[in-house]
Amino acid sequence: MLIFSAFQRTNDLQKLQDEVFDIVVIGGGITGTGIALDAAVRGFKVALVEKEDFAAGTSSRSTKLIHGGLRYLKQLELGLVSEVGKERAVVHSLATHLVQPEKMLLPIVENGSLGKTMTSVGLKVYDMLAGVARKEQRTMLSKSQTLALEPLLDNHKVLGGGLYIEYRTDDARLTIEVAKTAVQYGALAINYVKVNQFLYDDYKISGVKCQDVLTNQAFVIRSKYVVNATGPWVDTLRYKNQSIKNKRLHLTKGVHIVVDYQKLPLQQAIYFDTPDGRMIFAIPRGKTTYIGTTDTTYTGDIQEVTTKRNDAQYLLTAVNKMFPTTYLSLADIESSWAGLRPLIHEKGKSPSELSRKDEIFMAQNGLISIAGGKLTGYRKMAERVVDIISKKAYQTYGKPIKICRTDEIILSGNRFGSFANVKEYEVSIYDQIKKLGFAKETATYLVSNYGKQTAIILDKMQEMLNTEHSATISLARAELWFTIQYEMVVKPLDFFARRTGKLNFEIQSVQQLTNVILTDFQTYFNWTLQTYFREKQVVLTAIEKAKLF
Ligand code: FAD
Repeated sequence: MLIFSAFQRTNDLQKLQDEVFDIVVIGGGITGTGIALDAAVRGFKVALVEKEDFAAGTSSRSTKLIHGGLRYLKQLELGLVSEVGKERAVVHSLATHLVQPEKMLLPIVENGSLGKTMTSVGLKVYDMLAGVARKEQRTMLSKSQTLALEPLLDNHKVLGGGLYIEYRTDDARLTIEVAKTAVQYGALAINYVKVNQFLYDDYKISGVKCQDVLTNQAFVIRSKYVVNATGPWVDTLRYKNQSIKNKRLHLTKGVHIVVDYQKLPLQQAIYFDTPDGRMIFAIPRGKTTYIGTTDTTYTGDIQEVTTKRNDAQYLLTAVNKMFPTTYLSLADIESSWAGLRPLIHEKGKSPSELSRKDEIFMAQNGLISIAGGKLTGYRKMAERVVDIISKKAYQTYGKPIKICRTDEIILSGNRFGSFANVKEYEVSIYDQIKKLGFAKETATYLVSNYGKQTAIILDKMQEMLNTEHSATISLARAELWFTIQYEMVVKPLDFFARRTGKLNFEIQSVQQLTNVILTDFQTYFNWTLQTYFREKQVVLTAIEKAKLF
């Protein structure tokens, strides 16, 4: 088991300053961590810095699907659908516990945007482009079959449906496992380090000037190549490098809302029409169902993206129209999140029409920036960037070119071999924990979040049970210990929002656990009382913001 520990931060910071790197990657979202992994596997000496926590930007705010983007077919983005469609199976094989198959129902309704023939042909083309195995290919359904699968749909409007397979994931956990695997291959990845400026040698970029956000200490990192993988912040850094020419980002906001599962008890995930001709998802997850997303041009503060009342209302209207017996209201929303898509601006196009393709911008002074793309396509995006650097390194230093191998690099936590083994492991974990009063869902949560690393957490939980009566609290404390020790958790929201997803899908538990988790933080990091109360306020504000519109 590798050590990617918050307790090693001071050491790692020193290494960043002492050593010269081949590549420094700015941004610890899925794009940056994917590049760090690919480059490290190909033998480059890599550093990655993230100004907040890993995945704190868009990579914890997506719909959490590894999907081919069915709707991009309408825009005839065949290349994109084919690439990300095929990547679904690859990413599933790399993180089998974390990227799980999810049946998706597409209801065909009266006056909807898709007719029966178009849906049938569309799904068939989707299967072909993505190279879907025959037994997993789409099935077209009659009206009665569709209603049998989802009785909450409107009996008067449903004409039929299509059933196909996508993959569900946890975006932030996928990002952290990619980061951990990069570290396993020798990369140095660190959170809470912000790049403020670039270093130049004879007008050529030669590193970055940064700041440890926790202590404000400034330092420089020297590197042959610098990659700007900062998602919505890509243009902020291109601007600092004075290399914005022609193409710019067009940020669009996407919001998701979460309700109690009992309020929208869907039998499986559904992809359905909205009154304005868009399509959104409703996806059951644990004790909740989440609904999203919106897609609107965003020009506000990138750092402070929040759900507004009209975003929530838009999603509620669409759900209530599609499932007429649900009557969801603003008061039913338990949590929400909002994120920004770092898309490339195209004149005259609306947010939903903008391409999701990624693009690489090469500045004359050497800065390499990448934007656009999807969570699903992170590996291919990384491959393109590292191919460019490999070629340059060959031309400049004669470094032998190695081809991308990340399609065979299993991510940490996954030692399963097959999805059936994941399910078997889940049963064995449930056998272990049911005597302590845990429900089956806890085993599902642990295995899909941590994979085989669950065993380490349960060992720690047993140890904690010697001094702590509540099994639920012991488990949360063991998760905290694990994520500090092995996943660079530094602050409470790293834990509640991005390592465990509790802020999104179990918000009541965050309220219940705040004191006990913060007391452990105080012990592990020697916090003063002032820090304790400041961090507690940060958690309480996050809880409030998730439901305040
Ligand atoms: P980010 O995740 O934003 O990472 C950039 C990082 O750079 C941030 O963490 C930021 O803090 C850091 N940074 C910025 N400036 C600095 C600096 N100066 N110094 C150091 N660090 C810095 N894709 C899918 O495949 N499936 C989906 O279901 C899906 N749903 C989506 C739904 C929504 C609402 C949105 C908004 C996007 C969705 N996407 C989906 C797209 C996907 O989430 C994004 O393409 C992807 O997460 C972008 O990752 P990134 O690493 O490029 O950006």
